[in-house]
Amino acid sequence: MTEEKSFEKTLRTRRDELIGMISEIEDKLDDPKPNDIEDRATEREDDEVLELQANAEYQELKSIAAALERIKNDVFGVCLSCRQAISMERLNAVPHATHCKNCMETKS
Ligand SMILES: [Zn+2]
Repeated sequence: MTEEKSFEKTLRTRRDELIGMISEIEDKLDDPKPNDIEDRATEREDDEVLELQANAEYQELKSIAAALERIKNDVFGVCLSCRQAISMERLNAVPHATHCKNCMETKS
């Protein structure tokens, strides 16, 4: 189970990274709005980009939390659809993958 340990480490590191990035974005979003209308328009566009980015990061954070939970429950690396083991190759690329390559392909 040394592999799981190393995935756990990767996932935890990435999780901390994401938490840092999300709080940075939230700080920026909390900035007081500029008074100038034009500046405010730009700010709003920036905010939208930041919100989209934060959303994507939240999603990844959620997947990572779920993956850490699967490690805890000893079902890490098992495809949620067909219950087969997800290949190491795939887990190395996406440690929080929930589906094997086959099921991923059928799904999309
Ligand atoms: Zn599968």
